[in-house]
Amino acid sequence: MNKKRVLVTGGTGGIGQSIVERLSGDPRYEVSSPARVDLDLESRESIDAYFSEASVYDIVINNAGINFPECIEDIVDKHIQSSLNINLVAPLLIIQKCVPHMKQQRFGRIVNVSSIWGVRSKEKRTLYSATKFALNGVTKSLCRELGPFNILVNSICPGYVNTSLTQRNVTPEEQEIIKKEIPLKRFAEPSEIAESIAFLISENNSYMTGQTLIVDGGFLA
Ligand code: NAD
Repeated sequence: MNKKRVLVTGGTGGIGQSIVERLSGDPRYEVSSPARVDLDLESRESIDAYFSEASVYDIVINNAGINFPECIEDIVDKHIQSSLNINLVAPLLIIQKCVPHMKQQRFGRIVNVSSIWGVRSKEKRTLYSATKFALNGVTKSLCRELGPFNILVNSICPGYVNTSLTQRNVTPEEQEIIKKEIPLKRFAEPSEIAESIAFLISENNSYMTGQTLIVDGGFLA
């Protein structure tokens, strides 16, 4: 059996680790998740260098992302650049590198890991929402452009997930308040996000493309 080659960015993070574990345990996939020293998403040179060696992926999961929750007056230039580069420009460039092979194969699956703050927003999410709304725009446009080549492009929008990112950005007191607002009364486990992604990239998903799939325990409802 020809294994499908999968690229997962941010594979050392809370959600990324779960995605890598879930897919590595599936004999249909050969999973690559480069460390930042090999693929630094803030560096155009690093992206070009990485893909000059390896651009043959059937499936791309743009998972890496950062969030600097700051009031508008406190946003620093460095955070603007990092957020744009890591959350938006790098996913776009990675897709650009991988699409020629996918078109040739007439098969491809792309999942952009966005956020509920890519469809709604809240205070101190200006940068994060700007990049995640834009990433969902990338998904919508590419669904149209790449659909004729059997390349399916979706965004997944997790709500609150039990990860260090959430621990860093949401105080324990806020967490308790938010959990009361979530119909399922708890945050997601990273494995639950990985499971949704596993469906989106699988051949079981033959018709869902251009979507922003919200996995939030019903929070936004
Ligand atoms: P995390 O902070 O645990 O992991 C982030 C990953 O991105 C790490 O592997 C890190 O090394 C990588 N990364 C950061 N900067 C990089 C760079 N310059 N080059 C290469 N890699 C870089 O975050 P997470 O919670 O696992 O989040 C994963 C994705 O899910 C992100 O896109 C995030 O926005 C999204 N998300 C997370 C939550 C949540 O509650 N944790 C909710 C909604 C969406």
